[in-house]
Amino acid sequence: MSGVYHTIIIGAGAAGLFCAAHTGGRTLVLDHIAKPAEKVRISGGGRCNFTNLDVTAANFLSENPHFAKSALARYTQWDFIDLIARHGIAWHEKTLGQLFCDGKSTQVVEMLLTEARAAGAELCLATPVRDLAHADGRFRVTTESGTFTARNLVIATGGKSIPKMGATGFAYDVARQFGHALVEPRPALVPLTFGDRFAPLSGVSLPARVSNARTGFNEQILFTHRGLSGPAVLQLSSYWREGEAITLDLAPGRDLFDLLRSERQRAGRRALASVLAAALPARLVDHLAPALGLAARLADQPDARLAEIAAALHGWQLTPTGSEGWRTAEVTLGGIDTAGLSSQTMESRHLPGLYFIGEAVDVTGWLGGYNFQWAWSSAHAAGTSIAGQP
Ligand SMILES: Cc1cc2nc3c(=O)[nH]c(=O)nc-3n(C[C@H](O)[C@H](O)[C@H](O)COP(=O)(O)OP(=O)(O)OC[C@H]3O[C@@H](n4cnc5c(N)ncnc54)[C@H](O)[C@@H]3O)c2cc1C
Repeated sequence: MSGVYHTIIIGAGAAGLFCAAHTGGRTLVLDHIAKPAEKVRISGGGRCNFTNLDVTAANFLSENPHFAKSALARYTQWDFIDLIARHGIAWHEKTLGQLFCDGKSTQVVEMLLTEARAAGAELCLATPVRDLAHADGRFRVTTESGTFTARNLVIATGGKSIPKMGATGFAYDVARQFGHALVEPRPALVPLTFGDRFAPLSGVSLPARVSNARTGFNEQILFTHRGLSGPAVLQLSSYWREGEAITLDLAPGRDLFDLLRSERQRAGRRALASVLAAALPARLVDHLAPALGLAARLADQPDARLAEIAAALHGWQLTPTGSEGWRTAEVTLGGIDTAGLSSQTMESRHLPGLYFIGEAVDVTGWLGGYNFQWAWSSAHAAGTSIAGQP
């Protein structure tokens, strides 16, 4: 098998398929696994959190915080919501502007395939790439099934998270091959580990504020056998570095000192633990009781002691032993350095016709639909740029 194309897109995931719907000209989408858009299928607990009502560059991490602005402004969440509506896919807002399908995420996979096929794109799945070369203004892609050439090559192979779903460092190898720098890829949106310290609390969840010196998030946290998870912890993990402490406020927006003082006046014979169990999960209070002396009676505690306990619960300092890594990380932080790409088109500044889109690029969204919005916006930027070529 061989063929001459206007554009070859490597990676039939969210960004690759969406790009194929916009490139115009003869387009081939290659993927090394047999099923397209597997991460879309498993995303959002099977309902795909496909975008967010409130998207700004502030919801993304990148060495260049301005890079994402242009693409996000030219293909917005409203554009994608219109597309979803045109395909008759019902959706709802869950929380914090996060939009999910009412039905299954496979509806979004089907929509992406329909859009790509309607634009005339050809899909070639289960086709690993053996070699890439560029000569005389054309890319040559050698695969196990044949050789294909094209004027444009779009790398949409995502990041390294969840290798068992087909993730590889392919984009980074291509970047190095063509002289692009990388921002060190790291697992992000990932649970933090604490050995077996929290195993007895596994399953306990509560709203909390999780912060470090740089930022903080108020959402649910979840204790697991291996450590801490839940949206607030996943969000902070993108800003966490090995060896750093994090701070948990177990009752954000409440004044536990005030609560303990007023309860001391009202019902001084109660134990500290029983009062706190009304504000926090009882299993968590039991776990903390020995270290904080929570078996003691409220009436016996001076203000200074109550203040100390409240401060400990509002500012619990913990140092993770690590993160769960690529096996469970939802995304990859870092990637292709944006300094080597045009923010308007995603085209390489080193080699015309070469494009990098989606998660492979050093633009990483928060939890909440932002990573897909980046996939759609960056894919649209590259696709429409290719379509507009003379
Ligand atoms: C469990 C989970 C849930 C998620 N839920 C959400 C969510 O609800 N909302 C949200 O916004 N984001 C979510 N994300 C993140 C989101 O899935 C990704 O950011 C998004 O899929 C990135 O799109 P992409 O096209 O760049 O990469 P991908 O969708 O990962 O696609 C990359 C494609 O490239 C292929 N590929 C990889 N290596 C090669 C190679 N060597 N040769 C050929 N092909 C290759 C892969 O097989 C894959 O098909 C979730 C991620 C995970 C893991």
